[in-house]
Amino acid sequence: MTSVHELMDYAEVIERFDPVLGLEVHVELHTNTKMFCGCANVFGGEPNTQVCPVCLGMPGALPALNGKAVESAIRIGLALNCEIAEWCRFARKNYFYPDMPKNFQTSQYDEPIAFNGYLDVTLDDGSLFRVEIERAHMEEDTGKSLHVGGATGRIHGAEHSLLDYNRAGVPLIEIVTKPITGTGERAPEVARAYVTALRDLLKALDVSDVRMDQGSLRCDANVSLMAKDATEFGTRTETKNVNSLRSVERAVRFEMTRQAALLASGGEITQETRHFDESTGSTSSGRTKETAEDYRYFPEPDLVPIAPSREWVEELRGTLPELPWERRKRVQQEWSLTDAELRDLVNAGAVDLVTATVDAGATHAEARSWWVAYLTKEANARGVELAELGITPAQIARVIALVNSGELTNKLAREVVTGVLDGEGEPEAVIEARGLKVVSDDSALEKAVDEALAAQPDVAAKIRDGKVAAAGAIVGAVMKATKGQADAKRVRELIIARCS
Ligand SMILES: [Zn+2]
Repeated sequence: MTSVHELMDYAEVIERFDPVLGLEVHVELHTNTKMFCGCANVFGGEPNTQVCPVCLGMPGALPALNGKAVESAIRIGLALNCEIAEWCRFARKNYFYPDMPKNFQTSQYDEPIAFNGYLDVTLDDGSLFRVEIERAHMEEDTGKSLHVGGATGRIHGAEHSLLDYNRAGVPLIEIVTKPITGTGERAPEVARAYVTALRDLLKALDVSDVRMDQGSLRCDANVSLMAKDATEFGTRTETKNVNSLRSVERAVRFEMTRQAALLASGGEITQETRHFDESTGSTSSGRTKETAEDYRYFPEPDLVPIAPSREWVEELRGTLPELPWERRKRVQQEWSLTDAELRDLVNAGAVDLVTATVDAGATHAEARSWWVAYLTKEANARGVELAELGITPAQIARVIALVNSGELTNKLAREVVTGVLDGEGEPEAVIEARGLKVVSDDSALEKAVDEALAAQPDVAAKIRDGKVAAAGAIVGAVMKATKGQADAKRVRELIIARCS
């Protein structure tokens, strides 16, 4: 096994091959309890404190299905334009791994609860791309292994492993696309846009925390290439657990260039799982991919089949909230945004954030200016998603209000926001700690104005002669003397008053 890859230039890949994608997204539901027992479903607890005989797979322990999880699965299916099964069952997926004490995962196999849907995805240029959904099925999460002593946290080279079963039995929905073809060079962008759209949808449905960094949304990216004259799909690889939107895009692009180089040199693609390395942007070989037969699926005998009545399904359809694409259409109308303004808002991933900032009292123009124009740059610089930046819409709305009331200048406001982003607490605490209040005390400002006028007598003379434009130099000097904490408008007024 080698970690050095021959890669083909991307333009040449597109000239010679058509990419085919398949995306599998696992989403952890944020139900109060686990899928088949009453244990708490909370992220980040002390290891092995949220466990019981059922999720530890003790002999004789029997599962009982979480109704709320079924409800969430059906709502997800409906929002993805799927058909909802009239009758379906769980199945046992048999394999051994230490993080799964039952030695089988309770999942769904040939009878998923939702199937045959689609999601329309908005690309960067505003165009729509339809991704067809094969199925959305229910299953349980496994526990977590922590490999100790190895260099990379992987099992290779580890001295021993620790196991935490808090996550064992957490409800999961796995959403699987049909093969995605026809993307051409936009394959990496389509992959990112799809996961983004799915995340926004799941968030709107309020069924999951959808935190990729905490693993409550995980994406496996299947990639294969077809030579231009080929009639069948090529062999695919599956890059597992890619944990950011940007990484999804990078992983797909990397696999395309790696596979193309291998195929062009007469090599063959191995059907396998691969790992994505954030630091190098490359993938490395995992295990050879099992086929369905290897898992020896059979219907779960300890759970009754699920037969959601059509009345219940329609009732749940009625609970669907305003979905992201509907919300986009509405805000464009309400705020009279141009197509370009809407596209900037959507591409920044800021629709919900701006809406929440407006709900907290700002105007949409102010809110957009902060989130789309300023905070997006901050997020890029810090390498995180806008929503994970660590500042809330309510905090931004308060900063905007302080600017409007004259207590902060725009420059000071940016410094306050930087303080919040750096973990210094609430905006008010940052203002206090960094001493960022605007100097609005006229006597202090008058003193600074007099000093500046005295230091530049020729400029002062011009202003006295009525050349008001010359006041800019004095304003600049006062701003410098007050370390930018004066209200420039008020300073100008005082200068004119002093010279008239
Ligand atoms: Zn339990």
